[in-house]
Amino acid sequence: MYALALVAYLALGWIPGVVLVLLALVGTLRALASTARELAPHALCGRGHVTPTYGLVRCSACGFTGEGSVWRCSHCDAAYGHTPCSTCGLSIRNPSL
Ligand SMILES: [Zn+2]
Ligand SMILES: [Zn+2]
Repeated sequence: MYALALVAYLALGWIPGVVLVLLALVGTLRALASTARELAPHALCGRGHVTPTYGLVRCSACGFTGEGSVWRCSHCDAAYGHTPCSTCGLSIRNPSL
């Protein structure tokens, strides 16, 4: 019985490893895709206006006013869930969240 278990382990032991590697790969690819969306130079509001994703932002979490991504505070690294459209004021969802 023990030998059988050992044979089964040697024959099939690589399968969980492959599954774990695939899961890690999928997680990495999803993180890369969301980072690419966050770094896109423009975002579109619900009415189709183009809003730059780089500019002057005042962080609502720490109060720091800095220039950088409108999705993330350059001081405390807080992520913002949305930003107002620069044309009409509609909120634009953070595409990476
Ligand atoms: Zn902040
Ligand atoms: Zn708009």
